[in-house]
Amino acid sequence: MAREVGRSRKVLIVGGGIGGLAAATGLADLGFQVQVFEQAEDFREVGAGIQIAPNGSRALQQLGLLKEFDKWSWKPGALVMRDAFEGEDIVRIGLGDEFVGRFEHPYAVIHRADLLGLLLEACRRNPRIDLATNSRVEKIEELGQGVRIRLADGRSVDGDALIGADGLRSVVRSHIVNDGPPPAPKYIVYRGVVSREQIPDDVWAPEVVMWTGPNADFVHYPLRSGELFNLVVTFKADRELDPMDIAGSREEMTAPYASFHPTVHRLLDLLPADRKWMVTDRTPTRGWSRGAIAVLGDAAHPMLQYMAQGACQALEDVAQLVEQVRATSGELPSAFEQYAEKRYLRTARVQFSARQMIELCQVSGLLADLRAGYFGSRTQQQLHDGIAWLYSPHPGERFS
Ligand SMILES: Cc1cc2nc3c(=O)[nH]c(=O)nc-3n(C[C@H](O)[C@H](O)[C@H](O)COP(=O)(O)OP(=O)(O)OC[C@H]3O[C@@H](n4cnc5c(N)ncnc54)[C@H](O)[C@@H]3O)c2cc1C
Repeated sequence: MAREVGRSRKVLIVGGGIGGLAAATGLADLGFQVQVFEQAEDFREVGAGIQIAPNGSRALQQLGLLKEFDKWSWKPGALVMRDAFEGEDIVRIGLGDEFVGRFEHPYAVIHRADLLGLLLEACRRNPRIDLATNSRVEKIEELGQGVRIRLADGRSVDGDALIGADGLRSVVRSHIVNDGPPPAPKYIVYRGVVSREQIPDDVWAPEVVMWTGPNADFVHYPLRSGELFNLVVTFKADRELDPMDIAGSREEMTAPYASFHPTVHRLLDLLPADRKWMVTDRTPTRGWSRGAIAVLGDAAHPMLQYMAQGACQALEDVAQLVEQVRATSGELPSAFEQYAEKRYLRTARVQFSARQMIELCQVSGLLADLRAGYFGSRTQQQLHDGIAWLYSPHPGERFS
């Protein structure tokens, strides 16, 4: 019955990242013809690992992708926040049986290429999905019935509906929300994946570890079945950043870590410094849908990475969108409106929490002492309670 709601109508999707490909498979499964337009010459994820919390796995399960995800993901034993100078743990959140029992899925990490690869495979298996690369969408026109997109190469394509999954600088968002470019980035990221053999045995740990110090932090965790190791540094910029200037340097990358623990320096030596990323977010907004157009993922709610939730929220968006399309028997404008209404407050909370979290991570002095005191007095159950609003399967806990 679910398959019938699409009735072979055509949905255009701008952007072939995690959100766009997940939406393509979810909607094709409902019987829509789906065309994905990706500006890059290939479907690929640059960067390194990504953390997928239980709520992200739940969304993957709703989309029928969990089994494949489980094959590629690694399940760390704990989330650890560590003092950057002393090397002592500030807090350790267990991710074992108690955590999995409560949130019904493990906490997982996966190489971005593996996550995108499994989504791409699901799209390629579905004859209703057409995937186009080298296809930058520049303009959107709303027709009496449906939508027309114009591409940079002069093509134009009509569809019954349009989904913008085109990330931070979304053209679809600017068409329907029209709130200007995102704010200038304030944080610089260097990241990369190295092999397990490169990591000294006394440093390797089957955990997600974040070393935190003033205005800078350093995250690492294993990937695949432990054969890879993911390294990410993030620090506050001391100048105005040009988002297009992505050339990195070892000097820039290591300077904020000068007084960090020697272990951090042993790992920093392994991290490539030729390319950097600059991160920013937006203040939450409503208005992610208009008629037969909707946005999802970073196009709708770009956030700092400090809750490790951008991709998880994109997957939740898709699961909710698919559910609304099914519930409205394929009435897309009303499904899009209901989807946006059901999603905007939850994602707003994650966006605001990510801003608070970076402040909590990169503090120093008295604030760092307060943080240590706070976390030091928490039991594992209290730590899990603190994150239940985000990970719990029970809607009643969503505003806890
Ligand atoms: C350092 C860092 C660490 C992170 N860690 C985590 C984590 O641990 N867990 C987590 O859940 N999230 C994490 N995130 C966030 C996550 O990476 C993003 O939220 C997620 O990738 C967003 O997916 P998306 O599909 O919405 O957008 P994107 O990944 O940005 O994809 C958008 C796609 O659209 C294409 N595109 C853009 N414009 C056009 C156009 N006009 N025409 C055609 N194509 C276009 C782009 O080329 C791109 O392929 C992290 C982010 C950063 C920066």
